[in-house]
Amino acid sequence: MGTDEDTAAGAPRRPEPGARDDRRPALEERFAALEAVGHNSADVIVVLNHGGFVVYANPVAQRTFGVTAEEGVGLNAVALLSPEDRERIAPRFLELFTSPGGTIRETVQAYTPAGERRDLEIVATNSFDNPAIRGIVINGQDVTRRNLDQRELASLAERFRVAFAENMAAMTFTDLEDRIIDVNDAMCEMVGYSREELLGHDSKPFTLDEDVGITEATHHEAISTSRSRIRYVKRYRRKDGRVIVVEVSRAMALDPDGQPQYFVFSERDITEERKLTAELSSRALHDPLTGLANRTLFEDRLVHAHQRAQRSGTLAAVLLIDLDDFKGVNDTYGHVIGDELLVAIAARLRRVARETDTLCRFGGDEFLVLVEEMAQLKDARAVAERILAEMATPFNLRGTTFVQRASIGVATLDPSVDDASTLVQRADIALYEAKRQGRGRAVVFTPSMHQEAVSRFTLAQDLSRALERDELSMAFQPIVDLANGEVVGYESLMRWRHPERGAVPPDVFIPLAEQSNLIYDLGAFALRAAAEAMTRLPRTDGYPPYVTVNLSARQFHDRDLPRVVARALGDHDVAPHRLLLEITESVALEDITESLEIISELANLGVGIALDDFGTGFSSLSYLVQLRPRAIKIDQSFVRPATPSPQSDAILELILLLGRKLGVMMIAEGIETPAQYNRLRGVNCRYGQGFLWSPAVRLDEVGDLIARLGESPPIDHSRRRRGRMSERHVAD
Ligand code: C2E
Ligand code: MG
Ligand code: MG
Repeated sequence: MGTDEDTAAGAPRRPEPGARDDRRPALEERFAALEAVGHNSADVIVVLNHGGFVVYANPVAQRTFGVTAEEGVGLNAVALLSPEDRERIAPRFLELFTSPGGTIRETVQAYTPAGERRDLEIVATNSFDNPAIRGIVINGQDVTRRNLDQRELASLAERFRVAFAENMAAMTFTDLEDRIIDVNDAMCEMVGYSREELLGHDSKPFTLDEDVGITEATHHEAISTSRSRIRYVKRYRRKDGRVIVVEVSRAMALDPDGQPQYFVFSERDITEERKLTAELSSRALHDPLTGLANRTLFEDRLVHAHQRAQRSGTLAAVLLIDLDDFKGVNDTYGHVIGDELLVAIAARLRRVARETDTLCRFGGDEFLVLVEEMAQLKDARAVAERILAEMATPFNLRGTTFVQRASIGVATLDPSVDDASTLVQRADIALYEAKRQGRGRAVVFTPSMHQEAVSRFTLAQDLSRALERDELSMAFQPIVDLANGEVVGYESLMRWRHPERGAVPPDVFIPLAEQSNLIYDLGAFALRAAAEAMTRLPRTDGYPPYVTVNLSARQFHDRDLPRVVARALGDHDVAPHRLLLEITESVALEDITESLEIISELANLGVGIALDDFGTGFSSLSYLVQLRPRAIKIDQSFVRPATPSPQSDAILELILLLGRKLGVMMIAEGIETPAQYNRLRGVNCRYGQGFLWSPAVRLDEVGDLIARLGESPPIDHSRRRRGRMSERHVAD
């Protein structure tokens, strides 16, 4: 096709300048009229020749396609169309080319040479028979922007549909009176009502009565403060009656002038979540075995009680309860019974406590009670006494009946308490005092106890360094044959010379050492020192004297004891039967089976047992026989009774009779005066020790002591028949 001079088939091409020069006047002439109109037109105006190439493009067309007048001419119009449009429109254009005066209307997508998309609404007219034009005139309007807006709207609508209708979160639109304009399926599902049932109503019909106010309040808040988003939690009653907890987010939509238009609610059913959180926090705050509060919860309550006390002067107290020898229950009956016992104790505590009190399992066998809203501080003691009374009833678990006693430390919240945690600390100090006074009782904290606790603590610190600093030593008190005054043995007693405090009595530091593993080091030291002394103590009447060493409860029950004893004896090569280990009867009877095992292990080594402080504990005669002690040391309270009476004489006689029947050495402790000596002789007590002869002295002083006792004995035995004082007294 094409008559024309100015075109070439194929891609747009810029004609050679030289080749066009002679044709230009003709073209310019030809389009002069068109140019006159096109130049000022607001539309795209393009003229195509027979080949479909652009022969004229007006300024709007140039701008729209981003080309100059020169670049525009020669472009292949069809090539600018999108591939789809090219296919669709090409046949119609072909038709147009052969239809003089014909017209087509189309919306097309074209691309600028730079590749940008243009949407155009065009009217193409065959003007080949117009001599001034001789081409197809395309008149187009750029609708790119308009199309874009429409697409955006469509995509917004889709976005909204997905966000609202398809959303799994419940959503509602309401008008400014909170009446529902629209709800999504999730919301209908959540409350169990259909869309139709909900539209036009507010949320009142399915809101729990108590919570209607919440909706109203947030509505008011949104309107009055123009806060665009408010979150709150409320409860709904579903159509099926089930109550659910929902978290609501209320957002307010504003018009361009900032005026409220409607509300958008997004809601979430948090019923399960709440339940889980409550369960988890309850688990995190309670002891799983007894269900009582744990430390965390207790401390929290205590802090609040303390704040209340400081604000309004309310009275409160902390009771720290410790089960006496609970370990024994676990060891004897097993952990299952142990656990059941703890549960049973928790139940008894609940019986005593009031609503406002907090019960806490503080540790393995320790409980705390926070007593609040007391009328007077002394009520705290009454609560403690009630707990002790509850504990007095024996427990019956799985057919086993036993008594579990407890000791209680009480601390009241007085104005001097500036930190809540000191209250537990004070209760602990009072508890220590309660146990020191003999267990099974309640003691209320007093400030002097605190001072004692502090010095106890520093003393314990000092004691831990006493061994390495060489501050400890053993002293030896002679044990005398009362018949003739001969020294037959020695009790070894530990001494601590504190660098600042001077001599600290063993009654003070031994219990301190008992509270830590220090007691084992002290015990081993005592045994080594005693063994060494046995090699150096003077013989009496040709026989080597025996030596007793005191053992505390934990030392005696230490699995390592026989080894430690054997090593001490072996290192100094002394005969084992010269050593007697002193234990109190309560220590021996604490766990009789275990005690018998230990004693038989020691007996295998050749070492004997002496029962110390005899008569003060609860002695079971049958056990006594089983223990087979080699010696019994009669407690000082029988030797020096506070008020001598026929009864105390009778007990003394009975103890001695028992000893004789069992063939045990009987040693009276603490004889201070000749009168006491005579009384003991009168009831046939064979051995004794006491200040009448000597207190315990250093090993290097023993020689002088023996000499002094020989020269001036406190008792004149010369008229008595001299007896034998010897190893034979020790042997059974
Ligand atoms: P204990 O074993 O009953 O020792 C007898 C206590 O009575 C000793 O006190 C002794 O010095 C004292 N005494 C002796 N004769 C008389 C007297 O005629 N009149 C008076 N008033 N007292 C007399 P001490 O040395 O203060 O020891 C006290 C307790 O400390 C001992 O009681 C014993 O239970 C414990 N103890 C001492 N040394 C050791 C040790 O090495 N290891 C252990 N585990 N405990 C020890
Ligand atoms: Mg003793
Ligand atoms: Mg004693």
